[in-house]
Amino acid sequence: MSRVHPIHARPTAGRRLAAALAALALLPALLLVPEQPTTASPGSPAVIGHRVLGKSVQGRKIIAWHLGEPGKKKVVLISLMHGDEPAPRRILTNLRDGPPVHGINLWVVPVYNPDGFAHDTRKNAHGVDLNRNYPYKWARLTGNYYSGPKPASEPETRAMMRFLSKVKPAYILSFHQPLHAVDITERPKFSRKVAHALGLPMSRLTCGGTCHGTMTMWFNHKFKGFALTVEYGPHPSAARLRAAPNKILSLFGASRGRG
Ligand SMILES: [Zn+2]
Repeated sequence: MSRVHPIHARPTAGRRLAAALAALALLPALLLVPEQPTTASPGSPAVIGHRVLGKSVQGRKIIAWHLGEPGKKKVVLISLMHGDEPAPRRILTNLRDGPPVHGINLWVVPVYNPDGFAHDTRKNAHGVDLNRNYPYKWARLTGNYYSGPKPASEPETRAMMRFLSKVKPAYILSFHQPLHAVDITERPKFSRKVAHALGLPMSRLTCGGTCHGTMTMWFNHKFKGFALTVEYGPHPSAARLRAAPNKILSLFGASRGRG
């Protein structure tokens, strides 16, 4: 029986150097990527699949995570449509990374505007407010609400339109900041339920006086389902954000955990 002396198992100095150089070569790539909003969560028991909706102007993937049970009521949750409104994303990633979800067919899009998120800007990399770029009541707007050169000019807009047209959810909650209110302009009964569940006031959100080309307006005009804007405040507490996922699930008669 031959015995391999440990010394033979060790890499040679040359191999060690090559390995070190290879690791060094990887470093810039690792350092240059600020955060991987598109990182897969293969370990999460809640995730039953995911779909790449498309790519942003700068080539970042927009991912929808599929949770829950296909065949149940379809709900889509979206955050970071405006890249500088990051807090509600934690509600969506908590759902994605938590225990299995039951009683709902749920999609979560935690980072809808990945370029805006990477640069901490409201708008996409073309400087377009995605929530003014949809092809319903689109208008030429400038400044903070720049609506783009034409309706649906932006890849992020078209990616979400394709996804929503395919899924046709019964409900969409579109999370924003910092107005601290749930919009009750349409379907006030349901909106009141959402506001009550999340402990947020109700208000008629008027899009800063420029309700043109918004995602919720486009969806509500085109489909039977209902899209609702939910605005958290500028600094929602960690406790509030932690409590929200289960409250959202119970709104739709859903839950999570074993069984
Ligand atoms: Zn917003």
